Amino acid sequence: MGFDITLFAAPGFMLCVLIELAVDRARKTGYYRLNDSFGSLALGIFSKSTLLLKISLLAMITQHILADWSLESWSLDNPWVWVGMFVLYDFVYYWSHRMRHEINFLWAGHSIHHSSEDYNLTTALRQTSSSVFVWVFSIPAFLLGAPVEAWIVCGAWNLIYQFWVHTRHIKTLGPMEWVMVTPSHHRVHHAQNARYIDKNHGGVFIIWDKMFGTFSQEDPSEEIIYGVRRSLGSVNPITANLQVWRSMAVDAWFTQRWADKLKIWFMPTGWRPIDMERDRPIQKTDLAHFQKYDPHCEPTQGAYALLQLVLAMLVGTLFLLENKDLSYSEAVIGWLLISAPLVTGAWILQGQGIQREIIRVLLSYPLLFASSTFYGEYSVWAMAIALGISTLALLPLYFVKPTEVPLAE
Ligand SMILES: [Zn+2]
Ligand SMILES: [Zn+2]
Repeated sequence: MGFDITLFAAPGFMLCVLIELAVDRARKTGYYRLNDSFGSLALGIFSKSTLLLKISLLAMITQHILADWSLESWSLDNPWVWVGMFVLYDFVYYWSHRMRHEINFLWAGHSIHHSSEDYNLTTALRQTSSSVFVWVFSIPAFLLGAPVEAWIVCGAWNLIYQFWVHTRHIKTLGPMEWVMVTPSHHRVHHAQNARYIDKNHGGVFIIWDKMFGTFSQEDPSEEIIYGVRRSLGSVNPITANLQVWRSMAVDAWFTQRWADKLKIWFMPTGWRPIDMERDRPIQKTDLAHFQKYDPHCEPTQGAYALLQLVLAMLVGTLFLLENKDLSYSEAVIGWLLISAPLVTGAWILQGQGIQREIIRVLLSYPLLFASSTFYGEYSVWAMAIALGISTLALLPLYFVKPTEVPLAE
């Protein structure tokens, strides 16, 4: 846990989000919508809390098994080794990120980061719960002697750098655009406009894209449409994590040719077996008449979902800091207690009623009571208080009658 700098950066991230939100309101730019931001932040918390379920298996493999095969470990006393490793990490990041855009099964995990149809600092926190792939690409660096712990630190700083580029409020940055990844570059990366697809994969340095032919300049005359070509149509973090996996699994199941059942996972992103293209065509977004996914909900329901988000963030952070040595089943229960409100909160924002939230709250009490013996004292109290607040907040919500809204075309 000691290496997870990003967890400690979280309060700074949230402060920046609040500042950008204030700027957005002052300038009346409308770059923030509650449902889309909820989706992004819920996915951020979700991916952090699934860390509980993942033993960093690959880190262990690289540390113990590869150790016998590696060259002598680099000395970390020399600051230039750190600089070199930071640049090398970004080079590895570029290729792993590019592969995640270009190969079907890798895109399945990465598509989550791109599924926001807005573009603001919360988009940066919209992270997948299944990304271990950068480790596979890091193996050559480990064999050459990169120390694993230091490599993880470089990875965390790389991720922290990428946070601030997710904004529309900074246009271009002069000479910085030559070398570094800037908001303008990364906006292109998140665009679904045909000319911008699979461009600007760099994390910190834009030079890799310029070297390997994936660079594109932002054209101010063309409005950027953010998101993925097949709209997610949900703010539910589980739906977001499973969407592409599910549609690939369905194709693999129903396609006639056995070769296609295997091939589909490793083909370029978007490739589907011919019979699936014919029998189960997928509706792609019409970019000429693009409409963001924007389900209606009452302000009280929105406020309730926002409350769940804040509680999950506070309780989840405390929980991750305090409960380090949990057994697998204990970790699963903790993860359920933290992440279930994000799923029911999403349902409320999507206008699907509060019945399931009532059930969630009622089930959480015995679950928390039963598990209170093995969690740290502070997190148990925090969870109990969060549950109490949710129960009280549910009461007025129960009497809110949703206004009938005609379904958008
Ligand atoms: Zn990407
Ligand atoms: Zn991004």
